[in-house]
Amino acid sequence: MAAQGENARASAQSEQIDAVIVGAGFAGMYMLHRLRELGLSVQVFEAGDSVGGTWYWNRYPGARCDVESLEYQYGFSDEIQRGWTWSERYAAQPEILRYQNYVADKLDLRRDIRFETRVTSAKYNERNGLWVVETDKGDLVSARFCIMATGCLSAARIPDFDGLDDFEGEHYHTGGWPHEGVDFSGQRVAVIGTGSSGIQSIPVIAEQAKQLTVFQRTANFTLPAGNRPLRPEEVERSKETLLEDRRHARETPGGIICFEYNRTPVEEMAPDALQKELETRWKQGGFAFLGAYGDLMATQEANQIAAEFARTKMRASVKNKDVAEKLLPVDHPIGVKRLCLDTDYLETFDKPHVDLVDLRENSIERISRKGVVCGGKEYEADAIVFATGFDAMTGALLAIDIRGRNGAELREKWAAGPRTYLGLGSAGFPNLFFITGPGSPSVLSNMIVSIEQHVDWITDCVKRLTEGNIRSIEATREAEDEWVAHVNELASGTLYPQANSWYMGANIPGKPRVFMPYTGGVNVYGKKIDAVAAADYEGFQLGA
Ligand code: FAD
Ligand code: NAP
Repeated sequence: MAAQGENARASAQSEQIDAVIVGAGFAGMYMLHRLRELGLSVQVFEAGDSVGGTWYWNRYPGARCDVESLEYQYGFSDEIQRGWTWSERYAAQPEILRYQNYVADKLDLRRDIRFETRVTSAKYNERNGLWVVETDKGDLVSARFCIMATGCLSAARIPDFDGLDDFEGEHYHTGGWPHEGVDFSGQRVAVIGTGSSGIQSIPVIAEQAKQLTVFQRTANFTLPAGNRPLRPEEVERSKETLLEDRRHARETPGGIICFEYNRTPVEEMAPDALQKELETRWKQGGFAFLGAYGDLMATQEANQIAAEFARTKMRASVKNKDVAEKLLPVDHPIGVKRLCLDTDYLETFDKPHVDLVDLRENSIERISRKGVVCGGKEYEADAIVFATGFDAMTGALLAIDIRGRNGAELREKWAAGPRTYLGLGSAGFPNLFFITGPGSPSVLSNMIVSIEQHVDWITDCVKRLTEGNIRSIEATREAEDEWVAHVNELASGTLYPQANSWYMGANIPGKPRVFMPYTGGVNVYGKKIDAVAAADYEGFQLGA
């Protein structure tokens, strides 16, 4: 009850508006636009000093999208898409960030965004039904709706290595890269981590560094992205069809239409047809490879065929045969960790100044004054790059002290793993929405399609509440329990839980091992959330 009293005092002193949005990446920007259209007063808080989210923070060399640029863009405005021309098949980070700034200018978003301001707490005041949001700059705002657009991959994480404070060189995390860039010329550089960020940055860092040592704990499946400049005619065609394409994308499992899934199970394919399918898709580059046959992601046996094909291709890309073997993923099926798309990643290891340290033999013991210590050996470095990933999906949310009814803490509620209804809300937390929250397709999809799906749903919901004079919406325990069970059941019928992935929380010591995204696909999921809305928010309780 002390918390209630505190909240009541806080809301008496605070600025009062209709909605607070936390985060100004793709999700927060679009959410702001939609709520403004409803005529709501909105305040966005963003920790960075500008818009962009992922593309604001991840400025490491080689950073680019892995969903093709023509699909990795907003699809809600014909005017916006016609006013922008992508230059490459996979746009590099600076181009994506320029695009986000272009959208922010076009929609005049910045006037409602408070930058360099981190939300520290959000507490629900049951007496007046308002969320009281506090920031590290001392802002105190009360709002009827609180929308978390905090990102699935925004809590960058450096593992707790002993000795890091003593390291005499510079160290960087890919997810918090200096804006002015880093010049590695003449330096000995250590890169720790070989996920997507490591795999994108290693070839580019190798071009500059005098010596590069890569520390690999798990080898990942990676295939050539096939990046290239876009042809003017394909860009023009896409401008004509984007809105229609986006409609189709929502009807696919991954929110992507640049390739089609072959539905035929592998045992029904003739050997030469199978080989041709795999070759063609490998050459095409990108995620098309995972759609080579119907059961590729369904059974271990079927998956093994594509995995072996990929390993053969990967092996052939590295001349040094010992190193090649170490770079091959052998401990998980293909596709159950995010597939990495690269440009000359494997070939980089044939360069005389690039070394691979396989942490499966010895893990990192500590960071020393001079470098990285592993297997009793000190690898000296002038700079260390941590490509060590994120506290994904829940990290940014739980960094905020979120309290719902009776002062209940979200951190406590999610101690054994996130619990949501549809990935959009959580019982006990009225009028609190998550964009691409755990329990939704989110990171298994083209994220912009999933973001738009959620923002549109939340907008319709807020409209229904405001027009219907309904004070609150809150997931019921029963609906939430059923949804959590459904998400778990679906995941357990797939190969996904077989890898130690960040999807499972496995990259963070002590984090509960729960498969967090919804594996049923954007299309199936979209139908479910639309049906919930059509049944006047079935599974939610609407408060008078
Ligand atoms: P974000 O872009 O992460 O934005 C969240 C924002 O919230 C951040 O700016 C953060 O500073 C802010 N924030 C968080 N907590 C607080 C707080 N307490 N107070 C104030 N502000 C806060 N997805 C794809 O579909 N295709 C891709 O090609 C792709 N490439 C990626 C490449 C990289 C390097 C990474 C890391 C991710 C990639 N993703 C990709 C996933 C990507 O995160 C999403 O596509 C998308 O950009 C997420 O947008 P968002 O607005 O939901 O979150
Ligand atoms: P990540 O996939 O989690 O990779 C982190 C790497 O660091 C892994 O190789 C991990 O090894 C290693 N690591 C973590 N802790 C370690 C430790 N204590 N000791 C040694 N190694 C350690 O993170 P990421 O590469 O930043 O990518 C995260 C996600 O962001 C991607 O999956 C993708 O969704 C998105 N992303 C996309 C792109 C793109 O292509 N557009 C680029 C970057 C990121 P283990 O595997 O053994 O844990």
